Amino acid sequence: MNRKQLIVLGVCVALCLLVGIGLWQTSHDLRYTRINLVTHPKGIMGTTCTIAAIVDSAERDKAEKAMKNAEDIIRYLEFKLSTWLENSEISRLNHSGKSRLSNSTRNVVNMAKEAAVYTHGAFDATCSPLIRLWREAEEENRVPSPRQIAHAREASNWESFTITKTAMQKNHSTASLDLGGIAKGFAIDKALNMLRQEKIHGGLVDIGGDLACYRKENIEGTWAVGIQDPFGKGTIASLGLRNGAVCTSGNYERFFTIQGKRYSHIIDPRTGYPAEITPSVTVIAPLAAHADVWATALSVTGKDGFDFLPKTIHSMVIEGTKEKPSFHQTPGFRDYLVKPLNTK
Ligand code: AMP
Ligand code: MG
Repeated sequence: MNRKQLIVLGVCVALCLLVGIGLWQTSHDLRYTRINLVTHPKGIMGTTCTIAAIVDSAERDKAEKAMKNAEDIIRYLEFKLSTWLENSEISRLNHSGKSRLSNSTRNVVNMAKEAAVYTHGAFDATCSPLIRLWREAEEENRVPSPRQIAHAREASNWESFTITKTAMQKNHSTASLDLGGIAKGFAIDKALNMLRQEKIHGGLVDIGGDLACYRKENIEGTWAVGIQDPFGKGTIASLGLRNGAVCTSGNYERFFTIQGKRYSHIIDPRTGYPAEITPSVTVIAPLAAHADVWATALSVTGKDGFDFLPKTIHSMVIEGTKEKPSFHQTPGFRDYLVKPLNTK
């Protein structure tokens, strides 16, 4: 069991406990019993997935259908957006120079394009040639030369693409797109909407440790979310959330190793080199798509990126090393901590 799975397991146990309390609190009402449904669909985006719903027992069938719809929309979006699947709309665009665009793909692409502006270039989905360069560098176990990095930086930018209502095409053959920093968050939001649409009392969708959740007014309590310690085992903080999303980016789990040195899987598009300063970034936002983007962007900028954060978005950035870490939180982030940060 890897660390992210451990955290997901922790969240599930906490969920069961919380819902167990809810069940006890409402059991005097004989009209219904409140139950907690949890599924763990397999083979989603190469990672773990949890879908949870708080429902009345009389509505179990409706809730199970909504949870299946949530799972299906995630699979559909993966099929459209993944660069790991040859026939996705994004892979077709990258390989053949043009692709039809479904509404969903167009929406994600437009969100990613806006993100490049509001993160001042720290999040840039067109930095795909750089991502590929560093991936190949790992395979060949040699650091790319400054010349290669300069070429990859110039190979692709948002001007290299034309987006219409139904299609997208490349203006330069070297351009390519990688939505890996936003697709998960976008899919989480769409999946959670499937539960909301069916008027489920409370819901949570977690993909690989990134999640979004809600509880209607009639459901007390919060969803418990653990933040993994980037330097060791266990969690470093626990958040309590009623509505919103939490995404974490870190270099502790996904990284490139070249000649024995670890490099972050997040690239600074402005320099072409892997982000260096941030072992872990957690972001709380109303939408998972935005939390996902900002977690990646702040991994590039470090705490300096706080200056650009909208008021509705909160974050904790951990910089430094295991021996000398430094913790930085926006003021709003502290409101979600259920107990003080464990920084020992
Ligand atoms: P995450 O783990 O959510 O931070 O997403 C990281 C993924 O986003 C990487 O695996 C790449 O596919 C992509 N990516 C890496 N660096 C950037 C960047 N600066 N801007 C946008 N996407 C990026
Ligand atoms: Mg992310």
